[in-house]
Amino acid sequence: MVWETDVALSALTRYRIGGPAARFASVDTRPELTEALRSLEGATCRVLGWGANVLVADRGMEEPLITLSGEFDFLRLAYDSVEAGAAAGLPALVGEVRREGRTGWEFLEAVPGSVGGGLRMNAGSSEVGLWDRAIWVDAMTPAGDIVRLGREDAQPTYRATRVPADWVFIAARFTAAAGDPAEVNAKHSERRRRKIETQVYELPSCGSIWKNPGPPHGSAWELVEQAGMRGAIRGGAQITERHANFIANLGGAAAADVLSLMAETRRRVHEAVGVWLEPEICLWGFEREELASVGAAR
Ligand SMILES: Cc1cc2nc3c(=O)[nH]c(=O)nc-3n(C[C@H](O)[C@H](O)[C@H](O)COP(=O)(O)OP(=O)(O)OC[C@H]3O[C@@H](n4cnc5c(N)ncnc54)[C@H](O)[C@@H]3O)c2cc1C
Repeated sequence: MVWETDVALSALTRYRIGGPAARFASVDTRPELTEALRSLEGATCRVLGWGANVLVADRGMEEPLITLSGEFDFLRLAYDSVEAGAAAGLPALVGEVRREGRTGWEFLEAVPGSVGGGLRMNAGSSEVGLWDRAIWVDAMTPAGDIVRLGREDAQPTYRATRVPADWVFIAARFTAAAGDPAEVNAKHSERRRRKIETQVYELPSCGSIWKNPGPPHGSAWELVEQAGMRGAIRGGAQITERHANFIANLGGAAAADVLSLMAETRRRVHEAVGVWLEPEICLWGFEREELASVGAAR
């Protein structure tokens, strides 16, 4: 395990935006992860999965950053469950259960990312999240101890859990009961078709920028539209015409462009309908005032 310095994060995030990580380590084994976490001596580190939900500041980030690979990237299908390492891709997991005709996984169709990132974000649809399928999840604490968590420990909610932010997910077992293969396949195809038709896959983005505020308000994209921000462009970033809750990198966008669109949208939505939107994406390396401008905590 080696800590590298000044590693460019624009190449490691889906947005293709952001400055370098001051310290970065790619770890392949549990002993290496323990070593990496213990070597930090209390400094808070972050974990990068596929970077499909992270916007990194143009100046980069000071917090040490870890990514998992090697032995953390595995999938094992069993009789009525599937075990996955945190570095396994969500598309690989979904592809495997779909091919094997296992039910209840279409909610995660066409969601980019890793299993670890999916657990942290409780990724999924507005009705179902990844933790709804979890039998157990193993996480490593900053002290290097491995803790087995159940759903009741994590208390998952919409795009969040109560698991401490500095714990690293390493593996999980999920339910994957056999179903009717044709029906399973049809449900996946339909979900994929709808997502690709209504969302933006051809340009770099982080998916939905804002959490849906919940009743009595509509979806976040409806509020952005009501505020007149659909299609707005700042620098190389645009609130997409197809989906008003996506901000795409049109090419050469800076993090400042995305942040400026977010801050203006949030202010205008509040003026129009009295709701303060809350970011769904993770913002790394930003100053306190920048985070406050888009309603994010450090
Ligand atoms: C086109 C598009 C469509 C999308 N559609 C959806 C959707 O339908 N539903 C949905 O929920 N999301 C969606 N997303 C967002 C994204 O796919 C999910 O949030 C996904 O879970 C991110 O996984 P990741 O590995 O890329 O995580 P990252 O972006 O790398 O990280 C996200 C968070 O997870 C943490 N993290 C990553 N790995 C670990 C780990 N091993 N242990 C602990 N914490 C970790 C990070 O520190 C960070 O806080 C979409 C994104 C795009 C670009």
